Amino acid sequence: MSRLNIEQVYKEAQALLEGHFFLSSGNHSNFYLQSAKVLENPKVAESLAKALAEEIRTFGLTVDTVCSPALGGVLAGYELARALGVRFIFTERVEGKMTLRRGFEVTSGEKILICEDIITTGGSAVESAMEVERIGAQVVGYAALANRGFCQRVGSSLERKPNAKLPPHLPFFALDDFVFDLYSPQDCPLCKMGSKPIKPGSRGN
Ligand code: ZN
Repeated sequence: MSRLNIEQVYKEAQALLEGHFFLSSGNHSNFYLQSAKVLENPKVAESLAKALAEEIRTFGLTVDTVCSPALGGVLAGYELARALGVRFIFTERVEGKMTLRRGFEVTSGEKILICEDIITTGGSAVESAMEVERIGAQVVGYAALANRGFCQRVGSSLERKPNAKLPPHLPFFALDDFVFDLYSPQDCPLCKMGSKPIKPGSRGN
């Protein structure tokens, strides 16, 4: 399969937003990736997941189940599970704590791949991993449609940044690196120019 240009896919879906955004990490950025806009087209979602599954198979990783942190990772994770031919479960926050609910169970030693839409530092993905490992599963790797450049993915020369949370000993698969600046609120050049950040998704985007 020819390599997908993930930036082009996001641009075509009008999912690469430009402006001044307040991200869930607390940082500000002049770009935001709205993966839901890409995944609203099931054909696109399917083709991205197939490409990601191909990378995972080529690497030779054995996966029993894909698990995603809700809500962001669910569509990508479900499509990836379909492409890999495995089961799909998700964790969700209950009073802030990532939890496996809805009757989902894991068996002892079950090999789980954690899938997000986009991995930034990987905080939610790691919380999801800790929850399934707490109840006996084994996390064997991580996957996302795109890597924001903090964690190191399989096949990229981009180095891991100090604030990356994904464990470096496990493989992380993503279709591409998608790097743009993040600013802490006190150092944000957009704020210094007098503009106010918006929370993506809060104004119809
Ligand atoms: Zn700002």
